[in-house]
Amino acid sequence: MQKLAMVDLLGQYEKIKTEIDQAVLGVIASSAYINGPEVKSFQKELETYLHCKHVIPCANGTDALQVAMMALKLEPGDEVITADFTYAATAEVIGLLRLKPVLVDVLPGTFTIDPDALERAITPKTKAIVPVHLFGQCAQMERIMSIAQKHNLYVIEDTAQAIGSDYRFSNGTTQKAGTIGTIGCTSFFPSKNLGCYGDGGAIFTNDDDLAARMRMIANHGQSVQYYHDEIGVNSRLDSIQAAILRIKLRHLDAYAAARNRAAAYYDKAFANHPAASIPV
Ligand SMILES: *Cc1c(COP(=O)(O)O)cnc(C)c1O
Repeated sequence: MQKLAMVDLLGQYEKIKTEIDQAVLGVIASSAYINGPEVKSFQKELETYLHCKHVIPCANGTDALQVAMMALKLEPGDEVITADFTYAATAEVIGLLRLKPVLVDVLPGTFTIDPDALERAITPKTKAIVPVHLFGQCAQMERIMSIAQKHNLYVIEDTAQAIGSDYRFSNGTTQKAGTIGTIGCTSFFPSKNLGCYGDGGAIFTNDDDLAARMRMIANHGQSVQYYHDEIGVNSRLDSIQAAILRIKLRHLDAYAAARNRAAAYYDKAFANHPAASIPV
């Protein structure tokens, strides 16, 4: 029996090999390995694609979440509500910053956070909500944003598994996943929807002040070289990864369409199977 990979990265590479090889060799020849022009170009192209004012590239999706939470100046003991069905990094970062993770169940049909349970979990110590968009499926952002506004909470969207997804509001308008809350975070780990050939991540926001703060935190807390205003982290996207991501971003919608075609095929094949239930 032939073994089928869930994500066939080699097959995907072979289709865009010429472009990728050229881009990678171009970066090597340029010697601008860190924060080179490719990183800036990728940032701009992702801002355009997402219709988002600021994209801050960083080293991975976990760092993206960490930098976002550091920028919001949350205090130890503050409560951050997130979904109990996600990759560990979401809750790990909350704990790392000495904040209190409050886990809330997901909805069986979509695997995204249950807004009613979320609202019940809010206490006077709650400061932020981290909804996780999973498998390209967005959490119920309209409800979540109205709960957040009512209780004056930040919303950090974990978009590591849904970059490129359109969230549809009840009035028919759409917005890209990760650009609806206060901050959006994503990962470019190779097997994610938009993956590079190593580690990578990015943070999104439409808020100018937060963008400046997050750029500073991701760069050792410095806004001017060698002037360190506060304690930050070292979280950079390298130029080779940015060059690869620029190419793959142009294919992202086609990759998502191909996944949807494959999902429809499985849905049809298992439609009447008594032991299989599928997300709605
Ligand atoms: C992958 C993932 C992360 C972490 O991203 P890394 O780039 O691996 O650090 C965070 N949240 C979710 C939902 C993920 O799937």
